[in-house]
Amino acid sequence: MADHDLLEKIVSLSKRRGFVYQGSEIYGGLSGTWDYGPLGVALKKNIENLWWRRFVEGRQDMYGLDSSVIMPEAVWKASGHLAGFADPMVECKKCKRRFRADQLADPKKCPECDGSLEESKMFNLLFPVDMGAAGTGGRGYLRGEIAQGMFVNFKNVIDSFHPKLPFGIAQAGRAFRNEIAPRDFLFRVREFDLMEFEYFIRESEWEKHFEYWRTEMWSWMEGVGIDTGKVHELEVAPGDRAHYSKRTIDFEFDFPFGRKELYGLAYRTDYDLKNHQAESGVDLTFLDEETKERFMPHVIEPTFGLGRTVLAVLSSAYREDELGGEKRVYLALKPSVAPVKAAVFPLLKNKPELVRRAREIFDTLKKDIPQILWDDNGNIGKRYRRQDEIGTPSCVTVDFQTLEDGTVTVRERDSGAQTRTSTDSLGKTLPR
Ligand code: ATP
Repeated sequence: MADHDLLEKIVSLSKRRGFVYQGSEIYGGLSGTWDYGPLGVALKKNIENLWWRRFVEGRQDMYGLDSSVIMPEAVWKASGHLAGFADPMVECKKCKRRFRADQLADPKKCPECDGSLEESKMFNLLFPVDMGAAGTGGRGYLRGEIAQGMFVNFKNVIDSFHPKLPFGIAQAGRAFRNEIAPRDFLFRVREFDLMEFEYFIRESEWEKHFEYWRTEMWSWMEGVGIDTGKVHELEVAPGDRAHYSKRTIDFEFDFPFGRKELYGLAYRTDYDLKNHQAESGVDLTFLDEETKERFMPHVIEPTFGLGRTVLAVLSSAYREDELGGEKRVYLALKPSVAPVKAAVFPLLKNKPELVRRAREIFDTLKKDIPQILWDDNGNIGKRYRRQDEIGTPSCVTVDFQTLEDGTVTVRERDSGAQTRTSTDSLGKTLPR
């Protein structure tokens, strides 16, 4: 069930507290772009780092990559995006607004003004780039998906590392799509971050690997703090699959505006390597050193949209409750993704001995846990509320007892429970 009220609350909290701002806001905002503020970028980077640690550094069969955003026309010709990366677009005869035809409840009527709609046309989503002075560098495109970076570097990685099958090439980076109708906050934008890998396998083993990655994707969602009770698998029907896929499962999430795709898992066969080999004339087959067989590997591709992850994590974590007789809003973020792991307060701002001791504790902690924050503004209750709202798991208060016995009060976000803890063990015990 859609909960537009919740989306509004998340958008407003995001702006107020510095998670996400409208792109180019002082010029009236640029549709389909959002800028991550100090807390948003911390949250996004924490998620991306967790992903990288888990799927790249945490494994021995994955090779990291950071490929260029601009790629030449030939890449997009080979990948099929020039011909097939398009959505059906319709224009209203009356108000001239444009919509994605496949997303309209009534394909004949304008959802804004009830006017009648033109026939739908296919609209290519790639952003062209003319390079060099007066385009002398040729036509390129901002990448519409990051996967092509992995395919065009397949031979490079093989030549440098001689991996055995199965193995993967992974990257996290920006993709650009000239979406017809950007909407729903971070959900459908024209510029977004993706995290994905191409996992190269033998064709005969595709089902086994597909199942393996399906389970891994569930476990990732659980780990990052997505409410998995709101995640649903959708077996994409053959007619709805991307041009390169022989099987696709979409992982849909109950976003505040409805159930929509969060991630995808696709069996891309050998479609991309085969076409790049044909287009570039470079041999992209794989030689199994042991059996001396030479063949084209097939590919399983798990794709994780980073912006949609941020939105799913925020939607999963948003809470309103009452604590100590007062209403509050808090984000029940996992400590591993929380933009601020702990806040340190002196109980009173005007007591130099408290402030000095609190500063010492803050400075020591910051060496261990960089994502901590200092706050001495307003009363303690207000400071707790501010931290709750941005999802800080722990607040550390330095009071007069600290000066006597070296203990501080650590207050836990969700329950509000407070415990006295020795400053010596803080660096080890604070969740992060
Ligand atoms: P849709 O049907 O929603 O347009 P798609 O099926 O074209 O999406 P894919 O090509 O599978 O999307 O894209 C891979 C992932 O990239 C998606 O699972 C999603 O997380 C993310 N993504 C795609 N388009 C956008 C967008 N416009 N804004 C933000 N994230 C996006």
